[in-house]
Amino acid sequence: MKKLMAANWKMYKLAGEAGDTAAALRAALDGKLPADREVLVIPPFTALGPTRQALAGAAGFALGAQNFYPSRQGAFTGEIAPDMLLDAGCRYALAGHSERRHILGEDDAVVGRKVAFGLAAGLSMILCVGEKIEERQAGEVEAVVSRQLEAGLAGVPTDVSAETLAIAYEPVWAIGTGLTAGPAEVAEAHAVVRARLVARFGPENGAKIRILYGGSVKPGNAGEILGIDNVDGVLVGGASLEAESFAAIVTA
Ligand code: PEP
Repeated sequence: MKKLMAANWKMYKLAGEAGDTAAALRAALDGKLPADREVLVIPPFTALGPTRQALAGAAGFALGAQNFYPSRQGAFTGEIAPDMLLDAGCRYALAGHSERRHILGEDDAVVGRKVAFGLAAGLSMILCVGEKIEERQAGEVEAVVSRQLEAGLAGVPTDVSAETLAIAYEPVWAIGTGLTAGPAEVAEAHAVVRARLVARFGPENGAKIRILYGGSVKPGNAGEILGIDNVDGVLVGGASLEAESFAAIVTA
């Protein structure tokens, strides 16, 4: 399966800016996108339209959403449904990003509901997991990641199609801080995730599900990170906001 190179634009970029960045990214990667890589752009909701337009017809590019509410429709003021995201051109969605867990207060159970609902609705889901610094210092990385995976995947059928599910290992202390987990730390955490996936989905399916690394990925460290065992892509925040910088990561 292709390595998934995901750009999370968080709450940055007005619609026009997003369209311009997506167009610049497309131009920067024109003829240079490696055959084994897929680019995923995840803009804010208000920028989905222009981003979709800028990427229309570009092979190897996909659009994603940062969040949704796990219901088809209804009286949920301020929320957005998977069907609306599919209608807006999204193929992927995130669940369990650390900013939603730790700033917006989403717990494991909510994250699990979103993963199961999103998949059933037809979105490909990226479940984000990762420990806080105090959990790492207490030697709890495996326990935290395993708990988040168990709850996050609880409603996912064991025969889930591997292309429709990915895990992003994102140590909370490395997100937006400039700190990156070292190669040994990344390899160790990704091995834990892989073992859990194999236990949950069987050796064949569990081996295929992509595991992305996220946390201060930059053009200068992307190549090394992508070379680590069980790293099947990256989820990039800050360094994805500029087309040139993200294009350099995609081709690293
Ligand atoms: C993220 O938003 O998932 C992320 C990893 O951010 P950053 O690359 O800025 O650390």
